Amino acid sequence: MNKILIVEDEVAIAELEKDYLELSGFEVEVANDGEVGLTKALSGDYDLFILDLMLPGVDGFEICRQIRDKMNTPILMVSAKKDDIDKIRGLGLGADDYLTKPFSPSELVARVKAHLSRYDRLTGSAAEANRVIEIRGLKIDTTARRVWVNGEEKTFTTKEFDLLTFLASHPNHVYSKEELFREIWDMESIGDIATVTVHIKKIREKIEMDTSNPQYIETIWGVGYRFKV
Ligand code: CA
Repeated sequence: MNKILIVEDEVAIAELEKDYLELSGFEVEVANDGEVGLTKALSGDYDLFILDLMLPGVDGFEICRQIRDKMNTPILMVSAKKDDIDKIRGLGLGADDYLTKPFSPSELVARVKAHLSRYDRLTGSAAEANRVIEIRGLKIDTTARRVWVNGEEKTFTTKEFDLLTFLASHPNHVYSKEELFREIWDMESIGDIATVTVHIKKIREKIEMDTSNPQYIETIWGVGYRFKV
């Protein structure tokens, strides 16, 4: 559940905002002065902030500035004066949105939802960045460096994994042993192209049902290997 902090000194307005947001399924906390609001905000425990501008103690400008120093959590600034809104925009404090009082609670809820989903998309895309290759029963998580064959996880050495991933990332492309050796092992490394053959054999033992009739890594006689799709 998304958690929202409202920093607002007018208790009736704060309660109204809280009620509407809770009805929309959000968890809401209220701080009625700037000091408390700032301390709570910096705890990092919230998914969105609604900040009134004029507050006793620390004002909304300062809270906004200090939040932005530390985190990218969405901030909605609220003010009774249109002039103030223009002023905050001009200051470039990094607030995501501005509302002039009085506003309708449904307008507030709509804006909150829009900013949360935008923020979730941004952070979510980073979290889901694992690149996964799936070909028939073979699944390679190239980010986590894990491999599954028909749902069963298999362990690979670093070079076996690199070689498998390289081939699977370039399906149907035929590579010579020399090319694969250059690609996976650096030029200085001890070894020769026979190393490639040995590694291909090890990989096949892990991913192929029948190593004499490989379904994934095919030998192209006299040339090299290709990953079949
Ligand atoms: Ca106020």
